[in-house]
Formats: sequence, C-alpha cells, structure tokens
Amino acid sequence: MKIKRIIVANWKMNPRTTQEARKNFLHVKKTAEKLTKVQTVITPPFIFLESFSKETSRRCALGAQDVFWKKEGSYTGEISPAQLYDLNVTHVILGHSERRRLGESDEIIRDKIKAALEYRLNVILCIGESERDTEGHYLAFLKNEIKKSLERIPKKQLARLIVAYEPIWAVGAKAKFADTPESLFETSIFIRKILSDTFSKKIAFQVPILYGGSVTEHNAENFLKNGGVDGLLVGRASLDFKEFSKILKIAQNVECAT
Ligand code: PEP
Repeated sequence: MKIKRIIVANWKMNPRTTQEARKNFLHVKKTAEKLTKVQTVITPPFIFLESFSKETSRRCALGAQDVFWKKEGSYTGEISPAQLYDLNVTHVILGHSERRRLGESDEIIRDKIKAALEYRLNVILCIGESERDTEGHYLAFLKNEIKKSLERIPKKQLARLIVAYEPIWAVGAKAKFADTPESLFETSIFIRKILSDTFSKKIAFQVPILYGGSVTEHNAENFLKNGGVDGLLVGRASLDFKEFSKILKIAQNVECAT
C-alpha cells in the first residue's frame, strides 16, 4: 500500500460551461492543496484543460479523458500526447468502458498507452468485466484485458502506470450497486498477481490500483480501508465539488487495514 492515495475525478462530458468548470476546479483545488497524503487528479473534458493548465500542482494534477497515439498530423478531431503535455496535463484515462463501448479495442488502447507513456504522461488504464459470474470467468477476462493492453510496453515505462478496476456493472448512472470492499480486495490481489506473472513482483507492487464504480462519500472510506486499493476513480460524485471534497478528506484520514 502506497503512502499517497490517488483520487481521480472523471467529469466525463460535464459541466456545460467554462464558468461552472472553473468554479468546480477551484473549489476542489482549495481542499486538495491542503492534503498531504492525497494526490488529486481532475480529468475534465478537453475543452477545459487550457483554462486549468496554469492552476495545477503536484497535489492537484490535471488529467485528460483520452489521447490519440500520434504526435501530430492529419488526424481530424484528435488530440496528441504532446499537446496534452504542453498544457501541463500529467495523467490520462485510457480504456474507460464508456470509450470501449464506442468501439475502442484493446489494440487501440495499447497504442494510446504506448504513445502516452513515451510522452511521460501517467496512464490510468481502466479494466473491468461487464458481468460477474460465480465460476470466476470474469477473472480470465480481466487477465486478458491487462495482458493485451500492455503487450510490448517496455517494463521501465510501467513506472507511470496506474490500473483502475472499474467493473462495468458498477459504473455510471445505470449501475444498481457498487462492488463490495471484500470482493474488491480479492480482485486487487488477482490484478497484482497478473502484473507479477506478466512483468515482475516489483512492478506488481509499484503499480497503484484504484477502484471505480458508484463511489460516494458514504462508501469511499470502506473501499480505501478494506479494498486493498491505493485510491479511487470517481465519476458522478466528482461533479459535486462538496461531495468530492469530502471524499478527498476521507482519503487523507483513512487508516488502512494492510
Ligand atoms: C467512471 O466514470 O469512471 C465512474 C467510476 O463513474 P461513476 O462513479 O459515476 O460510477
């Protein structure tokens, strides 16, 4: 378990105006700057990145929700890792289930991861099964996602990898419930085992693992305390700066079981 907790806000396609986005960002930043044991990462839509780029710090970092795999050129509508880097963006979410649903494959995700790591961005790789079965097939699915997305990525670049376990059935407005800390604990051990078998023990313990999926101010403490994870990826609850600030304070004060 790392000393610093990583709490990521995924604003998805919200809010509607720059004014609202700045208000949210500045409120969260005020709390985040005071927390010594938490690294906060805010990932707004691309359109707001420039407006926040001069306000970021180590405790309150800026992330993007996607990136293209080329540096520049004729790729209409895409944003490159070099462009993100230029805006002080330090993190990027890749492999999110809402993007996989739009057709992003493990191979595309791998190319994006490779490009992002080459530009020294920290990659938050999202993995997660759409259904939980009792025979453990979902574990084979997770193993395959990890292996395919990280195929041929040089080991030394994995120092900037973060894995976010986001079971799809627990993510977003249609989710009926979150995972439980007990089952998350088992899954986080499984993810470390895959990283250890695929790369090395050192990498398995150095890569932070986050949980995402219906996290709120009410369940955050239990996930951090008993889920065997290093942090959280928060979607809907990060849109309310008061609730998200409470989650950040919980992360600062929580005692870990491990
Ligand atoms: C997410 O979008 O990554 C997420 C975890 O969403 P939510 O917290 O709304 O389930």
